[in-house]
Amino acid sequence: GQRVVVVGAGQAGSDAAAALRERGFTGEVTLVGEEGAVPYQRPPLSKAYLAGRMDAAGLDLRPEEFYSAHGIERVRQDRVTRIDRDAGAVVLASGRTLPYDRLVLATGARPRSLPVPGAGLTGVRVLRSLADADALRRALAGARHLAVIGGGFIGLELAATASGLGVRTAVVEAGTRVMGRTVGPEVSARLAAEHEAHGVELFLGREVTALAGDRDGHVRVVELNDGRRIPADVVVVGIGVLPEVELAADAGLEVGGGIVVDARLRTSDRAVYAIGDCARFPSPHAAGRLRLESVQNASDQARHVAAELCGASAPYTAVPWFWTDQYDLRVQIAGVVRAHDHRVTVGDPAGRFSVLCFRDGLLVGTESVNRPADHMITRRLLASDGPRPTPDEAARPGFDLKTWRA
Ligand code: FAD
Repeated sequence: GQRVVVVGAGQAGSDAAAALRERGFTGEVTLVGEEGAVPYQRPPLSKAYLAGRMDAAGLDLRPEEFYSAHGIERVRQDRVTRIDRDAGAVVLASGRTLPYDRLVLATGARPRSLPVPGAGLTGVRVLRSLADADALRRALAGARHLAVIGGGFIGLELAATASGLGVRTAVVEAGTRVMGRTVGPEVSARLAAEHEAHGVELFLGREVTALAGDRDGHVRVVELNDGRRIPADVVVVGIGVLPEVELAADAGLEVGGGIVVDARLRTSDRAVYAIGDCARFPSPHAAGRLRLESVQNASDQARHVAAELCGASAPYTAVPWFWTDQYDLRVQIAGVVRAHDHRVTVGDPAGRFSVLCFRDGLLVGTESVNRPADHMITRRLLASDGPRPTPDEAARPGFDLKTWRA
């Protein structure tokens, strides 16, 4: 029979292994992950889990028994160090060798580190793994001042959670608005207002020049390029991630802003696929190739690759979507909104609202704040070949996606 090895036991890897069995795949499935925990969801790490409102068992993607019950061999706390494409095998840090007929790379991404003096002080952290979240939870319990470097979604979720725990929180963002790479100015403004209303201090358009510590080497101060010094017992660096591409690159596979795959999620070696945060793929919803960091992307690509491995062959066309929760705001994004040329706001920008994004007059995505119906309807519209509302229609008073008919 066929042997499938999946490298990386995160969202994409676990979902791919499970989807293979759901489709009736009868070959061997081996899931290799360097972490020790049962494969888990990351979104709660900056939200309910960090706040202490969810326990570790609540994070599991599937119960531990699931894997053995479905004949999925889990190799834990072992890292794939090399792909031997000629032999059709991966080599593990433990020295073990696993032969494969098809290989799925689901290696995710790792946090970028802050390139300033003092970045190595104790108390300077990142938030990616369960171990990071556990360490941060302990650190926050004794902390008075948290400084978050980076106003992206992880930094902002963390700020919302920490301020809710009573920790004085500051966010430093080099861009002029929060989540500037992900959402438009209306949603950025709404998020910024909500953080300020909860006592979070935002330092926008400012860069960190250094971190300064005490005699014990523990961080105490964040220094900015405008001369300001922010007190901090804990610093979390949330300035984005780098896709884990080294394995692929070392094996001579094409990489560039991620592991490059074709429309069927195959790398430049037809026996090797890449999915999730590490993969750069062509999408009909974007002008060029995309690399996305979202649960939707990891899990839809996992299901797609499982279908491919079971003999299907079709381009991957899933509609991208994403959410972030901060305080009582649920921000949802459907479609690829970064390359639009026209926006129409529906609803109240100080309350519940959506921003419809158009490119060349075509709806390409919607950003919603506490308007889940707009999000769901946009996903349906983008998934179909049917008509979509025009910018003129969207701009009419009283326009509502729920009642819109072509
Ligand atoms: P990962 O989940 O990172 O899994 C990759 C795994 O591969 C890791 O366990 C890694 O240790 C392992 N690995 C890497 N290299 C090797 C190797 N050589 N050998 C063995 N194992 C290896 N997305 C949303 O849509 N909504 C949210 O609200 C949201 N919140 C988030 C909050 C936080 C704090 C974080 C960190 C992420 C959040 N995300 C959210 C993003 C989402 O969790 C990721 O997009 C998703 O986990 C990607 O899945 P993945 O399997 O590609 O990567």
